[in-house]
Amino acid sequence: MPKFFIKTYGCQMNERDSEQVAHSLIARGYERVAHEREADVVLLNTCSVRDMADQKALGKMGMLGRMARDRPHMVFGFLGCMAQARGEVLLENLPHVDLVVGTQKFHRVADYVEELVAKKTGRSRPGEQAQLAPNQNRAMDDLRFSIVDIAEEPGSQSTIRNQQLAPRQATAFVSIMQGCNMHCTFCIVPQTRGMERSRSIDEIVREVRDLVEHGVKEVTLLGQIVNLYGRHEFPKRDGKSPFVQLLEAVNEIGGLERLRFTSPHPIGFRDDLIDAISRVPKLTEHIHLPLQSGSNRILKAMHRAYTAEKYVDLVRRIQHAREGIAITTDIIVGFPGETDDDYKRTRDLVEELQFDNAFVFRYSPRRDTPAAEMRDQIDERIKEQRNQDLLQVVNESARRSGQRLVGRSVEVLCEGPSKTNSARLMGRTRTNKIVVFEGSEKLIGEIVDVHVQHANGFSLYGASLLKDCGTF
Ligand code: SF4
Repeated sequence: MPKFFIKTYGCQMNERDSEQVAHSLIARGYERVAHEREADVVLLNTCSVRDMADQKALGKMGMLGRMARDRPHMVFGFLGCMAQARGEVLLENLPHVDLVVGTQKFHRVADYVEELVAKKTGRSRPGEQAQLAPNQNRAMDDLRFSIVDIAEEPGSQSTIRNQQLAPRQATAFVSIMQGCNMHCTFCIVPQTRGMERSRSIDEIVREVRDLVEHGVKEVTLLGQIVNLYGRHEFPKRDGKSPFVQLLEAVNEIGGLERLRFTSPHPIGFRDDLIDAISRVPKLTEHIHLPLQSGSNRILKAMHRAYTAEKYVDLVRRIQHAREGIAITTDIIVGFPGETDDDYKRTRDLVEELQFDNAFVFRYSPRRDTPAAEMRDQIDERIKEQRNQDLLQVVNESARRSGQRLVGRSVEVLCEGPSKTNSARLMGRTRTNKIVVFEGSEKLIGEIVDVHVQHANGFSLYGASLLKDCGTF
């Protein structure tokens, strides 16, 4: 049976999509391998949010071209956001690429791979090829045969569901919607992921229930704008948005211990969601709340429909709703037109709010976004200075928030061996802090209390409080 290798760039949504594709290939008898050297099919699931991710995937595919010379039967494919944004153009400079599949067609990847493998190994017979969907675009000539499918597909948010779980897998992502209609001026997502479309509450609950039956204890509901879930499809009930209705329904699932969601938009935090944060017990004490800028002028240019004052007020209301809740954020520095004064406002706000952690990005223009066309693009040197400066502020507040837990015991869901030291275990607190700790392997997949002995900016270190791990 053919072997496949899939590499993922970018966000959790991409990780989730890759797992779906892997599952559909395994279901057809393909074997997953850990390195491209061993594979007959190499798929790169791409990201377009930052230039760097684009370049990495293109560079990787360029290098894979050398393998194509020696092993012409191999199949190479681009999936996901960059595939969606660039389409057929990707075939021009990388002639060994056979497959380009966009974000609404992950469920077709296995069909296409099978077709390409058959063609390349000479196993196809006339009339055996899969039927083309309307709008599907195929480029074919005598020497090469490639498939490009970046067409929209109604209902694609529900097309692939089953996940392949590792033994004792404790956490899982569940995609609840696709796309985004917000059109932030720096963001390519509306082009690559399309308009908002949501799965039904029943369908999501069924998936979570199935995961829990297989041992999962924590799910993260995923969407590009997750807290506006279902706003176009489903009605409010008793003053509650579809997202709050979904949180309540998932919270009822017996055996599920923790519930998270990412990434929300500040404008989606209405009173019903703040209320849910205060009373839905399985919701964990962590909210990732993208700020992007502390300057109202820049927020407006970004097309983010809130002000710095409203953001601060929202953080305070969330903190008031749930004691000890951790808040993390995303910030862009060097957006077009960002003056020293604008940057200072961001810096001051970050100082004031003392985030538990923050991802700081230097603005990089994305093709086909309004911000890429704006005048007053910022010099790279200034972006870098602001980036470094803000990282210092962020790292300091992250360090302090970790330090506060030293000497205390925290509840950890153990996910598996630590990636940096496989003799230790790794898990997360309810506030989403990574904890590396000593304990028996039998703790994998379990919730344990860990005594925190020390902390650095990113992780906590400690030991399990179970006296006799062997009896667990
Ligand atoms: S809300 Fe998020 S995904 Fe949607 S356009 Fe803005 S940054 Fe992009």
